[in-house]
Amino acid sequence: MIQAVIFDWAGTTIDYGSRAPIIAFQAAFAAFNIPLEEAVIRQDVGLDKKIHIEKMFADPAIWTAWTAQGHTTDRDAAIDKVYAQFQTSITAILTQTATLKPGMAALAAYLTAKNITMASTSGYTRQMIAQLSPLAAEQGYAPVLNVTSELTDGVGRPDAAMLLKAMQRLHLDNPQEVIKVGDTVNDILEGKNAGVISISVLEGSNLIGLSEAEWLALSPTEQHALKQNARDVFETAGADAVIDTLADLMPLIEIYNQQQAALLLTPGPLTTSLSVKNRMLVDHGTWDDDYKALTQDIRQQLLAVGHADAEQYSTILMQGSGSFGVESVLQTAVPNRKGRGTLLIAINGAYGQRMAEMADHLAIDYLAIDFGETEPANADVILEALTQHPEITHFAMVHCETTTGLLNDLSVIPMLNALGVVTIVDAMSSFGGVPINIDELHVDYLISSANKCIQGVPGFAFVIANRETLMQTAGNATSLSLDLYEQWRSFEDYAGKWRFTSPTHTVYAFHQALHELQQEGGVTARFERYQDNQARLRLGMRALGFDPLLPETLQSPIITSFKYPTPDFDFMAFYRALKDQGFIIYPGKIAAIDSFRIGNIGEVYAGDISRLLTAVASIMDEAPVLAK
Ligand SMILES: *Cc1c(COP(=O)(O)O)cnc(C)c1O
Repeated sequence: MIQAVIFDWAGTTIDYGSRAPIIAFQAAFAAFNIPLEEAVIRQDVGLDKKIHIEKMFADPAIWTAWTAQGHTTDRDAAIDKVYAQFQTSITAILTQTATLKPGMAALAAYLTAKNITMASTSGYTRQMIAQLSPLAAEQGYAPVLNVTSELTDGVGRPDAAMLLKAMQRLHLDNPQEVIKVGDTVNDILEGKNAGVISISVLEGSNLIGLSEAEWLALSPTEQHALKQNARDVFETAGADAVIDTLADLMPLIEIYNQQQAALLLTPGPLTTSLSVKNRMLVDHGTWDDDYKALTQDIRQQLLAVGHADAEQYSTILMQGSGSFGVESVLQTAVPNRKGRGTLLIAINGAYGQRMAEMADHLAIDYLAIDFGETEPANADVILEALTQHPEITHFAMVHCETTTGLLNDLSVIPMLNALGVVTIVDAMSSFGGVPINIDELHVDYLISSANKCIQGVPGFAFVIANRETLMQTAGNATSLSLDLYEQWRSFEDYAGKWRFTSPTHTVYAFHQALHELQQEGGVTARFERYQDNQARLRLGMRALGFDPLLPETLQSPIITSFKYPTPDFDFMAFYRALKDQGFIIYPGKIAAIDSFRIGNIGEVYAGDISRLLTAVASIMDEAPVLAK
């Protein structure tokens, strides 16, 4: 639950358009006969004011103008002189611009009613804040704590120091329960550096930089264009959400508090970050150039995630769940209209089985090897089948069998490739969470989807395909919408255009999810987190009497199957008890052994696993789940 909102002052809660610092800077420099353009000042607003002056003097034009006036050539002395003048000017102007921005009084009342703490950090000094506070309080906004850089040894934005100091004083230790609201890029950076939810407000912001009267004089089209520009800047800086007015924060807090309700310990859809969910709050058109560019960027980034050479490989996005992606590959890759091919499928769980079912529906000739649900796909057996059946042209297998959590070895893929067999890997639940090197695998088609280890939301699958192989598949598909070749042509020939309506919100969320994968440190870092989660889960559950289904050597870091601790274990009661405590787990998916599954992918960290284990321990203590 959101515990606190930490606001910036000018341009955010008071002083529409952040006029005061601008006027004061202009006045301060004018006192030395140096006229300053507003735009020059606005570049760095939000910084500590002295550092801001230092930055302005770093501009050769300003420094030259300064020395040309015969003022001191000692830079520090110059900064001190202007800063002293700035303080005089701002004192005069502060009280005149201390009006709360529209929506702020209502927001403050809402936060008070919700018991959410209000505090501030600022580029102003303690003395200026002392001047402002009583005026803001009269209008209904009274933060309990105001942190200035005097409390952080002069360290201001974009450093997180002031925000962290505020959190420390307010005893807030979970940054995901803290929102920072500001109106400059430096505010966003401060928030991101502290790991809190960073939100930017557009109207009345420094970034737009207009007084309320100037803003209201604009046409809706002009306002929209200015907002769009500012929104782009904030989003590029990493804002978790961008709101039009302060009043928009209220519904956002309601949404956040609902989102944090239950933790999904499932193999996807999974728990996503707030910033990924936030990307779905804006509607987008599909034939817009920005949207197509975003699609192209996703296609490129996925190649990089999979270490696939962009000359040799191409990404195709396909609407629907992961199975739609698999089915589109099978029916496009294996010719069964013009000439025929034969597909060999290695099966050791429900997803391998599903490929056989698809082949049945598509009337594709196929052979299947069923290794059993707790045995890995064996390369020797696969190669032997190839010798016995020279008619085999294609091969398909699952990387991580989500049915059990078993991780198959992919080393047979390059061997098959060398033998001229077209290879297909369902890496749905592993791609992005387990390192995969497509260039080294020489795989022809690798399939995954938006809602697994990249940590996006459901809505589309993606295929990384070898261009040369793909080129030969024109006309193979028996379905219009699942024709992978035609889908590819559309992306290639029309600069990122999806063929039919695409899940726009999901695509935006996915783009953010890719960004967050990079921020985490890429696939290697994510793999390590998942492995750590899984090891904690496995050890902890074992100590509570739950044995894993698979030996450690076969276990993926994605999802773990646990055997029922006793024959009369009531899984549904266990499930409901965990759900009451905020955890959603998964039933088992295999026939032979009674088991259930716990996933550890998504926005899931060591602390979540220990909370889960505590919950399991308390449920087992009460033992309502052991006897029916
Ligand atoms: C999730 C998953 C799929 C696709 O399932 P959908 O329900 O269609 O998204 C396919 N294969 C594996 C291994 C999976 O984990």
